[in-house]
Amino acid sequence: MDRNRILEGQVAIITGGGSGIGRSTALLLGKQGAKIGLLDRSEDEAAKVKEQIERDGGECIVVDTDVSLAEQVEAGVRQIAEQWGRIDIVFANAGINGTWTPIEDLSPEDWDQTHQINLKGTFMTVKYAVPYLKRQGGSVIITSSVNGTRIFSNIGASAYSASKAGQVAFAKMAALELAQDKIRVNVICPGAIETNIGENTNRTEEAEEAAIPVEYPEGSQPLEGKSGSAEQVAELVLFLASPPSSHITGAQIFIDGAESLLIG
Ligand code: NAD
Repeated sequence: MDRNRILEGQVAIITGGGSGIGRSTALLLGKQGAKIGLLDRSEDEAAKVKEQIERDGGECIVVDTDVSLAEQVEAGVRQIAEQWGRIDIVFANAGINGTWTPIEDLSPEDWDQTHQINLKGTFMTVKYAVPYLKRQGGSVIITSSVNGTRIFSNIGASAYSASKAGQVAFAKMAALELAQDKIRVNVICPGAIETNIGENTNRTEEAEEAAIPVEYPEGSQPLEGKSGSAEQVAELVLFLASPPSSHITGAQIFIDGAESLLIG
C-alpha cells in the first residue's frame, strides 16, 4: 500500500468543504489521491479550494449546495457519482453554530435552521450517497462536536448541542445498519478548532453574559494550551477514510486536546 497516495482512485464527497475543517480535509484527501466533490453553499470559497487542489495535481468538482435542501443534496451527490462513476468516502461536515441564546429566547425558526443544516443535512448527505457507497463499500465520517455528548461551553447552545447529539446517535445507528454493505460510519467530536465558525455565530448578549466561566490552568486546552487546527482534524478524517482504519466503525472520537474532560 502506497501510503503517500493512500486514496488513489477513490472519490470523496465533502460537505462544507469551502472553509475550516472541510477545506483542510479536502486539500489533504486530494493530496492523497482522492478525487474531491465539494458540496458547499459558499461557492466562491469552495472554488478557491478547487483551485488549490488542482495546483496540487488533484481533481475537484464544486457543486453549489445547501445541505438543508433535499433536492440540492440529491442532485449534488448524483453529479459527483456520474462524473467519476463511484463514491467511496463521504465527509458529512457542513454545519453552523446558529443562534446561541437562552432557551426562553430561542425562536422555533432558529431551532429548525440549526437542525436542518446540522442534523437533517447530515442524514440527507448520507442517504443520497448510500446507493453509490453500497456498490463497493466505503467510509462515512460525520462531524459532530464535543457538544454532542458532553456538557461544554456556553448556556445558549441548546439547539446546536441537540443537533450535534443527534448526529452521534445517527452515526451509530448508520454504522450498524450499513455494516452489511461494508460501509463504515464514524463520528468525530472536535473541541475548539481555529476556523471561521465563530464569526458566523449569532450569539446574543444574554448568552454572552450567561457564559459559564471556564478557566484552565494553562492556555485554553490541557494538551497544547491552545485551540486545535483544522489540519489536525483533517488527519483524523484521513485515517478514518483510509484502509488503516478498516476495522473501525460506529466509533465516536474526540479530538479536543482533553478540553472536554475538564468540564465533564
Ligand atoms: P466553518 O464555518 O469554517 O466551515 C463551515 C462550512 O460549512 C462553510 O464552508 C460553510 O459555507 C458550509 N456550510 C454551512 N452551512 C451550509 C449549508 N446549509 N449547506 C452547505 N454548506 C454549508 O466551520 P468549521 O469549524 O470548519 O465547521 C465544520 C464542522 O465542524 C461543523 O459541523 C461544526 O459544527 C463542527 N465543529 C467545529 C468546531 C470548531 O471549533 N470550529 C468544533 C466542533 C465542531
